[in-house]
Amino acid sequence: MLSDPSRGVNAAQQPYDLLIVGGGINGVGIARDAAGRGASVLLVEQHDLASHTSSASTKLIHGGLRYLEYYEFRLVREALIERERLLAIAPHIIWPLSFVLPHSRLVRPAWMLRMGLFLYDHLGGRMTLPRSRGVRLDRDPVGTPLRPEYRRAFIYSDGRVLDSRLVVLNAMDARAKGADIRTRTRLVAARRVDGVWEATIEDASGQQVVRARGLVNAAGPWVERILRDTLAIGTSKQVRLVKGSHIVVPRCFEGEQAYIFQNPDRRIVFAIPYERDFTLIGTTDIPWAADPGEVRIADDEVRYLCESVNRYFRKAVTPEDVVWTYAGVRPLYDDAAQNASAVTRDYVLDVDAPPGEGVLLSIFGGKITTYRRLAEHALEKLAPSLPVLGGAGWTASRPLPGGDLGPGGFESAVARLRADAPFLSADDAWRLVRNYGTLAWEIVGTARNRADLGEDFGGGLTAREVDYLIAQEWAVTAEDILWRRSRQGLHIDGAGQARLERYLDARREAVRDSRSAMAG
Ligand SMILES: Cc1cc2nc3c(=O)[nH]c(=O)nc-3n(C[C@H](O)[C@H](O)[C@H](O)COP(=O)(O)OP(=O)(O)OC[C@H]3O[C@@H](n4cnc5c(N)ncnc54)[C@H](O)[C@@H]3O)c2cc1C
Repeated sequence: MLSDPSRGVNAAQQPYDLLIVGGGINGVGIARDAAGRGASVLLVEQHDLASHTSSASTKLIHGGLRYLEYYEFRLVREALIERERLLAIAPHIIWPLSFVLPHSRLVRPAWMLRMGLFLYDHLGGRMTLPRSRGVRLDRDPVGTPLRPEYRRAFIYSDGRVLDSRLVVLNAMDARAKGADIRTRTRLVAARRVDGVWEATIEDASGQQVVRARGLVNAAGPWVERILRDTLAIGTSKQVRLVKGSHIVVPRCFEGEQAYIFQNPDRRIVFAIPYERDFTLIGTTDIPWAADPGEVRIADDEVRYLCESVNRYFRKAVTPEDVVWTYAGVRPLYDDAAQNASAVTRDYVLDVDAPPGEGVLLSIFGGKITTYRRLAEHALEKLAPSLPVLGGAGWTASRPLPGGDLGPGGFESAVARLRADAPFLSADDAWRLVRNYGTLAWEIVGTARNRADLGEDFGGGLTAREVDYLIAQEWAVTAEDILWRRSRQGLHIDGAGQARLERYLDARREAVRDSRSAMAG
């Protein structure tokens, strides 16, 4: 279905049903659902999968307790229902987390928190997570890291997610159902010709022209730019770009619970156990006008995040403690709210379907938590133009790759892996099942001892895993591997990272040599 632009488009080739622009969570979620309904799908992502907003989140699958304050009942209800579904279909990369919300009289009265949590417990219907409850901080271990002036807290439940892995797993399942997923491939131009879209895409080898009956603009923070500059199509809808940043510091409290702190500016900041040895602290809400690809945390955000947690923790966190940071741009639907924290987190789908022409759907806003339902809504909107997308949704109960953990769930899968591969340490087996679920067995393969897994780059990352990520998960660079496929960048020192770079260089060279030998 690809053709060389210098030779024009081969009209005899069947157009794709859908060309999806953007390999963030919304693009891959739509690709998976559409491919599973029998549509032919091409997805292009200009960089790596999840290389922008979808790996820069707070990594929560949550209803969004604070959105209740903005009366976002539709969104919170949908997100709470999705939380239950996602916990069930991806139990390896999504798991429950309890949150401690200390009561601070200066910000919100206790009755307001109690009422919000009552709604949170009930809006989503049946829930498997524990319901909220009050605790005395002087009597409960969760109070230990907190300053003594905080006496009472509420504890409630949500989910946490390995966000970039959720993206990759959706892409893998889309591929398994026939979708063509191309990373490092950019949509350069597209126009409507003879009832379909004719699009020019570009990768390292040059440009190609493809045709598709429908175009999905899932470009996240670039959604408006694609409409305006790439497609020259007007829309009344606008996106509001809001930067959010996180800092990572050495673990600053014991226990598996997270904390949600209320700030005097009425914003909330999370402190979440992260990667065993660390604490993740975020986030901020800063209007962003520059290129979304250039987003970085600013010094005053680091200070703001430290101050926010220092109001609550006994042991101070300082900017000098920060070992890693990341920032992302939320592509929010612009509802004309005055301040960035108040802009709706709900999504809007905009369809442009002139009769007899290729259909276009653009996505404004959305949460990682609601991506699956957003994909269903998107296909419902496209189905009148593309009947292949009609029919019942199927993604609510089908596990994502590796998510079929079987009876006993996560812990028993870890025990099975250790029994099958006794040379793995408890930490390594835990990490492999957490990241890959039942696909961990593919990585371990026929290895009979540790050496069979190949070079060890540190933090448990071995050549066998790296090869798997390249072969199965579109990983190309050390950054893809260290920060998005695994989060081992936090655990592997400079020497280990340099060895990984050398390993990847040697692999690339071997591929080049074998290609030129074949050509010769
Ligand atoms: C700080 C922060 C915290 C958040 N926390 C949470 C949370 O805890 N829970 C939650 O549910 N949600 C959270 N969110 C929201 C969530 O991360 C986003 O809504 C979601 O990731 C958006 O996904 P997306 O696919 O629309 O955009 P993206 O992930 O940005 O994907 C869009 C992709 O389009 C690609 N693209 C753009 N132009 C082109 C082109 N011309 N050709 C090819 N590709 C192109 C880009 O490279 C990009 O990868 C958070 C967001 C932020 C910023």
